[in-house]
Parts: sequence; C-alpha cells; structure tokens
Amino acid sequence: MSFAFVSDHLALDFAATVAWRTTQPKELLAEPEDFARWAVEAGVVDRLEAVSHAELAKARALREAIYRLALAATEGAPAAGGPSDSADVARVRRAAAHPPVRLTLQAVGRVERRGGVQEVLATLAASASDLLGGPDHLLIRHCAGEPCTRLFVDRSQAGTRRWCSKRSCGSRINAAAYRRRTRDDVQT
Ligand SMILES: [Zn+2]
Repeated sequence: MSFAFVSDHLALDFAATVAWRTTQPKELLAEPEDFARWAVEAGVVDRLEAVSHAELAKARALREAIYRLALAATEGAPAAGGPSDSADVARVRRAAAHPPVRLTLQAVGRVERRGGVQEVLATLAASASDLLGGPDHLLIRHCAGEPCTRLFVDRSQAGTRRWCSKRSCGSRINAAAYRRRTRDDVQT
C-alpha cells in the first residue's frame, strides 16, 4: 500500500497514516518498516533502518497527538493553555526538543538527510509546531469527501478547497452527485 501526500503539510500527511478514522480505521503504519518507508517517501530522511516496535509506538503516539490538535484547530482551537489539549501539546513539545534530521547540502539540487527515529520524530514535531502554533492553523480543514478523514491546509486563494485530493475524494463526490442527478432525472 502506498502512502498519500496530499495534505499540503508534512505534519498532516503524517496524521493521515490512519485512514477512515471515523468509520473503519485503517492503520497504515502497521509495522516498524512501514514507518521507515513513510519517513523516506515523505522526504524527511534518506534512510531509516532498524526501527523498533517501541519506536513505532512512540511515532504513533506523536501522530495521534498531532491529529487531535489539528482536528481541534478545525473546530476552532481552544484558548492557548487550555486543559483539554495540554497532554498533546506537551508530547509535541517533548519530541521537538530533540535535534531534527540533519541536512547536509551536497550540491545545488542535492541534499543529504540523515537521522534516526528520534531525529525524524523531532522533525515531524517541529513541522507540527510550526503549523499548529502559527497562523496556518486557521487554514486546516477536514476533507469533505466522507468517509475520508484527512486534514489539509487550504492554501487556495479563495479559501474554498474542499477535498484532500480532487483526484480521489473530489472525483468520487462528483461522480456520486452525477449518479444522484441522473437517477433523479430517470425517476421524474
Ligand atoms: Zn479526502
């Protein structure tokens, strides 16, 4: 199964590694190797080897904290320092306290990204901190294509983006609407 990167933000792509959260949740990071593959495909790190089950559990816990905070942002973020999200905020803060993946410029167009799980999680936590702590948290939206539960950053000029991906969710919705319309035409 390949991963999707359609959220316009690294932290939200990470949160999307559980699919269909409200109906039939599907864990895309089922095994430690899945997390390693995701981190490489996401462009966070060049290689990630020998991820342990404990590290996978840590990654998932960080992911869930990010997801809950981002979801809260779509529902109107609670006042800073509110009690409901303090454990999640603390988790993101702890992960971001470590040094991130190290970037070494090799040449124009080529950079080496080195680090282990802790560095990868620090990079993801920093990305989440930037999103959730900055003005872009106001642009986080929930995909309108049920049962999709992906979150994305709406960077459209008009602020009217509705789907995580026009190609998957957008076209599915349009096809359903088209079927509904044509069915209605037949019935009337
Ligand atoms: Zn979607």
